[in-house]
Amino acid sequence: MRVLIVGAGIAGLAAARGLLAAGHAVTVLERAPAPRDTGCALTLWSNGTAVLRDLGVRIEGAGQRIEALDVRSARGRPVMVVDTGSLEARFGAPVVVIPRRSLLARLAEGLPEETVRFAARVTRLHDDGRSVRVQTEDGTTYQADLLIGADGVNSQVRTALFGSAPATVARPTGAATWQGLIPAPFDLGSRALLFLGRQGGVGLSPAGDGLLQWLIDLRRRPGTDLDHPHRALPALRARYAAWASPVTDLLASLSEKDLELFPHRRHRPPLRWHRGRSALIGDAAHTMPPILAQGAGQALEDVATLLRALTAPDVPGALRTYEKTRRPRRPWPPPRPPGASRPPAPEPPSRANPPYAPPPPYPPAWRPGRSPCSSEESATGSEGSTTSLGANAPGARGRGLSLKPLEIP
Ligand SMILES: Cc1cc2nc3c(=O)[nH]c(=O)nc-3n(C[C@H](O)[C@H](O)[C@H](O)COP(=O)(O)OP(=O)(O)OC[C@H]3O[C@@H](n4cnc5c(N)ncnc54)[C@H](O)[C@@H]3O)c2cc1C
Repeated sequence: MRVLIVGAGIAGLAAARGLLAAGHAVTVLERAPAPRDTGCALTLWSNGTAVLRDLGVRIEGAGQRIEALDVRSARGRPVMVVDTGSLEARFGAPVVVIPRRSLLARLAEGLPEETVRFAARVTRLHDDGRSVRVQTEDGTTYQADLLIGADGVNSQVRTALFGSAPATVARPTGAATWQGLIPAPFDLGSRALLFLGRQGGVGLSPAGDGLLQWLIDLRRRPGTDLDHPHRALPALRARYAAWASPVTDLLASLSEKDLELFPHRRHRPPLRWHRGRSALIGDAAHTMPPILAQGAGQALEDVATLLRALTAPDVPGALRTYEKTRRPRRPWPPPRPPGASRPPAPEPPSRANPPYAPPPPYPPAWRPGRSPCSSEESATGSEGSTTSLGANAPGARGRGLSLKPLEIP
């Protein structure tokens, strides 16, 4: 089968490896002019590294294996320890902190030449249910039996498939991460640290090769010093001055060039993750707050599920199976089992025990109580008239799909 993948990020490259290994002809179209060699480090939990292992991606010698995650209050009081070593023992896959560039390089290792086409920004998509055609910015057309949209949080494939209704478009959440990957100013061994306090979360992780990955997750008020590339460092030092060591040591050791700001963007997962012969994976389908360190792990879980589903010969059927497996419809909050008592109320906050400031609410459609999987999305009319003929529309099974060729903005 001929497969086109839009996006050579973690999801796209992992999918390419798996599909090539399964004997398919794969082309990855990436808008960037060259492989990415910048960026900070990621924490990959056992779910992600298990998929990498199954795909035959070698991570030995890259990044740092983590034995424990110490969670502490802002003043350094121990809150809990996540024994990541026992996760490794239980699931047979380690928790690692790995520079993004190293992970991308390892994912791309051994791919046949010409698999990834750089400077190939996809601008048009047409799916008639029998094949998929895309066009890149330079006018080149590619045709395939399956298209995978792995083009990230601002996915244009998602827009092309499901429209650009406000609920499906990625928006700023009001939170942001300052982060950096720097020569370690102190040695954490193989333990990662997470400090939680009123002013947000501060994470410190060894990332291999003498590097330290640090991040500060905070609410963001555009226009303040905390948001300004040249004024942020003194503002961060002042804001976290009363926090425990080594947060203060970290901030003292940084210089302006060590800081990168990532404003968070999120979108509501579309009600459907596939249409015709096209499917979404990774951030294109779902995003989550960086402090959870699960976005890449979930992208890799998508890949594993999709590969398993595609062992069936019928592509639209396999994509239905993928969507059904990865997008379960669960009410939120989950119903309490009959007879279960209410959970205990949290301890009242005190000076010694400042509450963790939760991340800001997600865009309205995400608010707990309104399941992201509810049918409201289809009621908002997020698609044009031709899309109602989609293979997934009620009663449309077997009619084939006629997607309007959509211009990707
Ligand atoms: C600050 C920060 C910290 C994070 N930390 C962690 C962590 O510790 N652990 C973790 O698991 N996750 C973490 N994440 C989340 C993680 O980075 C993402 O979930 C992951 O990168 C998603 O991968 P992806 O391949 O789906 O998308 P991306 O990595 O965004 O890749 C999409 C690719 O598609 C390309 N593209 C886009 N549009 C087009 C087009 N029209 N045509 C062709 N190509 C296109 C882009 O250039 C890009 O290469 C973090 C995120 C942030 C912002």
